[in-house]
Amino acid sequence: MKKIFLSLLGIVMFFQNVNCQQVDPVYLNTYPVYKGNDLGTVYKRYGTTVRVYAPTAEVLRMNLYKSGDDGEPYSTLPFNKDLNGTWVIKIPGDQVGKFFTVQAKINGNWQNEVTDPYAKAVGVNGNRVQIIDFAKTNPVGWEIDKSPVFTRTKSMQDAIIYELHLRDVSIDPSSGIKNKGKFLGLAEPNTKTKTGESTGLSHIKELGVTHVHILPFFDYNSVDEKQLNLSTYNWGYDPKNFNAVEGSYSTNPVDGSVRIKELKTMVAAMHTAGLRVVMDVVYNHTAVNKLSNFHQLVPGYYHRMKNDSTFADASACGNETASEHPMMRKFMIECVLYWVKEFHIDGFRFDLMAIHDIETMNQIAKALRSIKPDILIYGEGWAAGSPNMPQEKLAFKRYVAKLDSIAVFSDDIRDGIKGYVFDSKAKGFVNGNPALTETVKFGIVGAMSHPQVNMQKAFWDKVPYATAPGQVINYADCHDNLALWDKLAVSAPEATVEERTQMQEMAMGIVLTSQGIPFFLAGSEFLRTKKGVENSFNRPDSINAIDWNLKAKNIKVFKFVQQLIQIRKTHPLFRLQTADAIREQLSFMELPDGVIGYTIQRKSEKDLWKTVMVVCNSLGSKQEIALPAGTWKLAISNSNPSAINAGKLTVEKLTFTVLYQ
Ligand code: CA
Repeated sequence: MKKIFLSLLGIVMFFQNVNCQQVDPVYLNTYPVYKGNDLGTVYKRYGTTVRVYAPTAEVLRMNLYKSGDDGEPYSTLPFNKDLNGTWVIKIPGDQVGKFFTVQAKINGNWQNEVTDPYAKAVGVNGNRVQIIDFAKTNPVGWEIDKSPVFTRTKSMQDAIIYELHLRDVSIDPSSGIKNKGKFLGLAEPNTKTKTGESTGLSHIKELGVTHVHILPFFDYNSVDEKQLNLSTYNWGYDPKNFNAVEGSYSTNPVDGSVRIKELKTMVAAMHTAGLRVVMDVVYNHTAVNKLSNFHQLVPGYYHRMKNDSTFADASACGNETASEHPMMRKFMIECVLYWVKEFHIDGFRFDLMAIHDIETMNQIAKALRSIKPDILIYGEGWAAGSPNMPQEKLAFKRYVAKLDSIAVFSDDIRDGIKGYVFDSKAKGFVNGNPALTETVKFGIVGAMSHPQVNMQKAFWDKVPYATAPGQVINYADCHDNLALWDKLAVSAPEATVEERTQMQEMAMGIVLTSQGIPFFLAGSEFLRTKKGVENSFNRPDSINAIDWNLKAKNIKVFKFVQQLIQIRKTHPLFRLQTADAIREQLSFMELPDGVIGYTIQRKSEKDLWKTVMVVCNSLGSKQEIALPAGTWKLAISNSNPSAINAGKLTVEKLTFTVLYQ
């Protein structure tokens, strides 16, 4: 039975509600563990070898096809049983371009034909593995492609993350991009709107962020890659082949090598533009339950099963995976390493990370940093249901200090800034709820303890959870829930467009000056709207596409955000290195609720500014603030000018201002 299931997080997927075979959870611990690093397909001109883990199979066979999609197998060959639950087959001769499926016989029954979970190249819609020569997937110059430097101190808070969906960024005619909705669209330099504003890659470069977080581009289930005009849209949080590239973003989804080459072309273009690429990964569940390749090959092993042998479902998408099982843990580690080695990926965002155990996440971090020391790792420190495992072992937000430099999203600052996301009318600090002042202050200090933040007045978490500045992602919006501009429209209908613009500027100001790692949704720098649609995961381009004409229309906001980014990058005071430094050097001024003001004093930081002052007045009237002694200069403000004289600063209503000495 197919259902549509709406999760709390606004992620919706199809899932199959079916019973599965009885598997004793204790027995799972006795499954053999294969330690080699050669699972999957190894292509050589004189022969192809495939190794698959299927410890409970009585027989494993390969069905060979000429096409990635239709027709009968031209040959069916048996695998040979090999070490520690694995099966191996060697096919002599040059097999390039051939396709195959694997099929296990378990308890006397043939399971469905599936792809091997280690499939790195697949045919259209990811139903068959393709044998390709990876040496031929490299674009010109790939061997000299290098990730740009973004931090010299390995401080993750030096990152500024921009979150986008590949199709949204180029599909609108206003983008001026030729390869609309494709990897290649984000590789096109010097694209412009009709009025001459840069778009796509050039826009992101102009904006000045360091990292571009791209919504899922591993092979996902929900978009039919065979459709020529691809009228269906999806965010892609429904994994099918974790090691393969999604076909709908390629110019030819029939040939599995094309998407690989085009993704590499995009990564190289972004690196050349000084940008790092973050991949959104979704190991917490599979798009389908029983019919997933995991379950068809090793029933009940890769997912967490309940005592009644149904699928546990903390993803609210039908199932949850079992990272604590050694071969699932190994799979995740090898998968992320593959994306870094083959595609030069610079960071990972883990969807519903709290479904994964802390030990696995730390092993992933260690493995990744052994090959890329400044890789950025972060995730959602929550699940969409209650995982079928002791909570204290899982990567929940409150345990972030146990994670090895893996950041979690701060929903505290998100909802503090703009209001609770699950009540669209709820107001936050910038749109008229001074009661959330303390919650925003907690966000400003990176969700750490601070002597001037009263956690009893914080709205959500009452206990600081972070212990270092690189442990939190500060944000006001992302793909989930209403875009910031839409949230402001719904929650502050009484405000004028000009006032709401100032609210958006305050929100961006707070995100980009707080201690931690700033993050925002693509287009929020020029008031992007998704027309009030809260959960746009499968909505048409008319809702999701970025309208680049908004950039010229709201160029003042764009320039404000661009300047904030420049200030953050130039001044280490906004990127302090330790919790103690934040407690010692950042001090809040005594101001009424609805107004936040604080200074940061320079100590050992190499900053041209001795002291910086940030003042955000979300109240509906101007405020006079006593200035500490010394000469203050204006760095940035969204109200022009902010009066600074005779030891006093006057800030207009709804303004965000930074001063310095
Ligand atoms: Ca797909």
